[in-house]
Amino acid sequence: MRQFGIFGGTFDPVHWGHLLVAETALRQVPLEQIIWVPSYNPPHKQAALFEHRIEMVQQAIAGNSEFVVSLIERNRSGTSYAINTLLDLSAFSPNIHWYWIVGLDTFKTLPYWYRRHELAQMCDWLIAPRLPSGENIAESELVCQKVEQKLKLESICIHWYLLHIPLVGVSSSLIRHLSGEGKSIRYLVPESVRNYIATHNLYN
Ligand code: ATP
Repeated sequence: MRQFGIFGGTFDPVHWGHLLVAETALRQVPLEQIIWVPSYNPPHKQAALFEHRIEMVQQAIAGNSEFVVSLIERNRSGTSYAINTLLDLSAFSPNIHWYWIVGLDTFKTLPYWYRRHELAQMCDWLIAPRLPSGENIAESELVCQKVEQKLKLESICIHWYLLHIPLVGVSSSLIRHLSGEGKSIRYLVPESVRNYIATHNLYN
């Protein structure tokens, strides 16, 4: 069966941490393709315009045919939820084994996700360790086991795998913060993204 990854996020902006996570997932499973899904109205977040975030992801993944960006969330009214994304993508591409790619911080919130029962039956989880909880593999595994146990209390069974990846402390909020202070974001994002941010005066 074909194996695809979904990488959902706000990508405000996309950075090298995201790219490393996606590339690692692609090689370690291995996956045939990774679909990047920028959320339109991310829950609990205010973000730059969807068009800006899409454009930055497109520029960041340019030249990599195993990465594609989906505009699926653009037409969604209301909040973006993972279950809706997955239902739409699987209707479009049936007979796929889906993997949802997340950082450890996001995975910790899975026990509170909307319609998690259905979601858990439709995909497996690829988790990228991330600071502060993911200081080493053993600690990351413990965090994931706790999430698994919490879901079990609701009779939700999940399959998860930890990605083996160097910890990268970069985050979109760090980039927004540095940009806001007029500091350099060189080597934290691809050059195309850095130029896009400067040209459109984002995050000032
Ligand atoms: P913010 O700082 O605004 O919260 P972010 O850097 O976490 O943003 P998102 O677009 O919200 O970026 O993240 C998309 C997904 O990528 C999430 O699952 C997040 O955990 C994961 N992720 C982002 N940066 C990293 C990183 N450096 N290492 C591992 N996972 C990451």
